[in-house]
Amino acid sequence: MIVQRLAAGVLVAAALSACANAPVTGRNQFMLVSEGDAISASTQAYSEVLKKESGKIEQGSSLERRVETITGKLVAQAVKFRPETAQWKWEVVVIDEPETLNAWAMAGGKMAIYTGIIQKLQLSDDEIAQIMGHEIAHALAKHTSERMSVAAAQQIGLQLASAFLGTGSMTSQMALQAAAIATTVGVQLPNSRQQESEADRIGIELAARAGYDPNAAPALWKKMVAATGQKGKSDWLSTHPAGERRIESLTALVPKMMPLYEDRSPRPTHPVALLREAGPDRLALARQHD
Ligand SMILES: [Zn+2]
Repeated sequence: MIVQRLAAGVLVAAALSACANAPVTGRNQFMLVSEGDAISASTQAYSEVLKKESGKIEQGSSLERRVETITGKLVAQAVKFRPETAQWKWEVVVIDEPETLNAWAMAGGKMAIYTGIIQKLQLSDDEIAQIMGHEIAHALAKHTSERMSVAAAQQIGLQLASAFLGTGSMTSQMALQAAAIATTVGVQLPNSRQQESEADRIGIELAARAGYDPNAAPALWKKMVAATGQKGKSDWLSTHPAGERRIESLTALVPKMMPLYEDRSPRPTHPVALLREAGPDRLALARQHD
């Protein structure tokens, strides 16, 4: 009984000390899983995606160059929001799946966008910038580690319950559990409504600062709803519900973002294709040209 009380007390203490103010938003977040742990788990998960999709990753296409150019400018702005993220190995890939309307970002700036969403919605550069800006915002605001923390806490809660019933053990390590959770739920769990509105708000600003028209944000959501009709036809729409309120709040942000967009100062860029540039295909190609 004493052991059980102690265990419950440890969990509460861990939960209390796990709250921290988020970067960029300043919101108090529940953090059992550190960002560093989320990044190592995500790096592992990302390399598995690249391996699995290797035949479908665009290399040297004009679409790939477009996405790289846009994302590079967005990341240069993201790094200004959180200077320590300049150390991240930011990476974006374009996955050639003409039927997939999706895009995502994991902790540490590991991103993907599918050809389906670009081609089917005939996205302009400004609209691609809104999608990638939104995804970068999730990474910037530590949303992956936050979601992993909630999942880890739920799992630890279950273990506590089984320990109370005398069927489980209290010796499992939180860090190990978190890593296991990361690989299974890394990109599949939908974000909360609050995380979504944070990503919208930060994303439109990153895009404006990178030189992309803020009007494209509400326009993108209208296009998405019109093209996909009902919920569920688009992967991105199923995790990103496009309600009237979302379009309204983005529209309200447009005038505030216009001065950033109209600013005439140069728009810097940041590398976002390190992995592929170092990859065997690129190296083989480089050797042929030598
Ligand atoms: Zn989102």
